Amino acid sequence: MKRKDFIKNTLLIGTGLSILPSFIFPPFDEPYTRSQLIGKGNPDIVGDSYTSKMHRETKLALKKMSDAAASENIKIEVVSAFRSFQRQKEIFEGKYNRFTAEGLAPLAAIEKIIAYSTIPGTSRHHWGTDIDIIDGNAPRPNSVLQAKNFHGNGPFCKMKEWLDKNAESFGFYEVYTNDPQRKGFKYEPWHFSYAAVSKPMLVAYRDLDLKTVFQEEKVKGSAHFTDDFITRYRKENILDINPRLLA
Ligand SMILES: [Zn+2]
Repeated sequence: MKRKDFIKNTLLIGTGLSILPSFIFPPFDEPYTRSQLIGKGNPDIVGDSYTSKMHRETKLALKKMSDAAASENIKIEVVSAFRSFQRQKEIFEGKYNRFTAEGLAPLAAIEKIIAYSTIPGTSRHHWGTDIDIIDGNAPRPNSVLQAKNFHGNGPFCKMKEWLDKNAESFGFYEVYTNDPQRKGFKYEPWHFSYAAVSKPMLVAYRDLDLKTVFQEEKVKGSAHFTDDFITRYRKENILDINPRLLA
């Protein structure tokens, strides 16, 4: 049964809707559930591996873009696509445990983590709309996701130039651009987002109360998140992105 039908039928039955917690049934004009927004379950995510799991519409658009790139001998290879809340939690907590064991105070450890990684529940990879890509036809350096590989004489320059020219016509936009004024996550020339789905998801995401999410999902260290920290994280790490991806 589709969710809409389920809600309709539930309304027809007409009992007890008001006593259910609001996160089970979001308001009717809200197309995404909290679970979808924080990577805890989304029926639109298809695929069976770390690199093939993504939103079904992202997958269709990516196929079109990859076919076009292939005609110019560029093999768009996904190295990371959908990432679940649980997976992000493991990455985050692994680093948190290591940094605090090394003597960093909780908030200092978190600042260090978020230079490169997101807090679980806040990754755009949770949506299945965002992908990290390289050129599978180019020689592969040891560490693929580094900006230098996409510039100068880097192996992925040809793909990067092609994407600069063509990605937007397939609906894909670079998220963490090279704009020196931009704050938050560093420049990521490999990270692209399928705007047709990620833009409305970001609109819905902005309505989430992150402090509540962190506490309810028991994110490690979240007891140390100050309101100022959360406000800045939201402003810089979540919203200071390519303006074309903001609604
Ligand atoms: Zn990424």
